[in-house]
Amino acid sequence: MGCVRVMVSVLAIGLVLGLSSLQAVETSSALAQSKPSQPAATLPIINAHMHLNKNMPAAQLIALMDSAGVTQSVLMARYYRGDRSGGEGSDEQALSYAKQYPGRFLPFVAGQRPELLEQKRWLEPDEVAKKLLEQVEERLRSGEFSGLGELIIRHHSYMIPQAAQMGSEVDIPVDTPLMRAFADLAARYQVPMTIHAEAEPRVVPGMVSLLEYNPKARIIWAHSCGRSSAKAIREMLTRHPNLFCDLGDMTRIPASGYGNYWPRQTPSIFLIEDGTGRLYDDMKALYEEFSDRFVLGTDNAHTPSLRSYEARIRRWRQLLSGLSAGTARRLAHLNAEQLFTRKGSK
Ligand SMILES: [Zn+2]
Repeated sequence: MGCVRVMVSVLAIGLVLGLSSLQAVETSSALAQSKPSQPAATLPIINAHMHLNKNMPAAQLIALMDSAGVTQSVLMARYYRGDRSGGEGSDEQALSYAKQYPGRFLPFVAGQRPELLEQKRWLEPDEVAKKLLEQVEERLRSGEFSGLGELIIRHHSYMIPQAAQMGSEVDIPVDTPLMRAFADLAARYQVPMTIHAEAEPRVVPGMVSLLEYNPKARIIWAHSCGRSSAKAIREMLTRHPNLFCDLGDMTRIPASGYGNYWPRQTPSIFLIEDGTGRLYDDMKALYEEFSDRFVLGTDNAHTPSLRSYEARIRRWRQLLSGLSAGTARRLAHLNAEQLFTRKGSK
């Protein structure tokens, strides 16, 4: 990974010289282009699906990003309390990390909150929901947040015994009054909104009606559009210009989850690679065809999973090397730069 080290040094020098991180990215891209045989090894990467727990120190995240060649990272705090949820992150924490390391973190207004696990609240927004909407709007209005989410809508439960961590079974309709209110805020403040929803047969129509409800709301459908098939993703992307797919945790290495039919296999789950770092042909064709609609992510939701952060990025570089140079560059960082830059803010 010598090339990555060179790229990180360029970035570090750029920061020392007071260049913006984007300028540093351009410098490293030029470096990548000078090695056409292995462009993916040195591409700057923006991690578009990454979480934040209370016990994830900023310096540790920066060290991992630097060693893996990740120039910027989304931070989606997990407000979940309790030993087995391992969260207790907060928007304030994400914002303070972004201020401490300018240009490196993209804080989202968090969607992983215990109060959003209740289905009734989505269908009939109560006082708690109204308060939350006010808070979300206030934070988005500040201009300090780059997105909204991850909103957990259809999620399979899991236990990770060795790390004593868990995730809940969640089954909420996608297109609800509260979701529409979030979508309107995302559109008004020009930030994307990340939604976790396994693309099961009754989930997809809800996603379609949400995308049609407010075409100005840019929706990032997490984990390869809910682990849909290439054919289904193609149809959705063709029909809905406001839809984007993040490939969070879709690498198929032993440490990954969603890239591995995890936590359980269903007929609605389609993977993107064969387990050796080779993209399936239909997914590869999809990325080439819709090269401006996909972003990458590691999705380290539980703190112990930081151990595999670098391995996840290494696998992303391997997968990117199977794509044309232009598409690899778009997935690695250009699409994320566009998605997370608010019009008029840069
Ligand atoms: Zn997710």
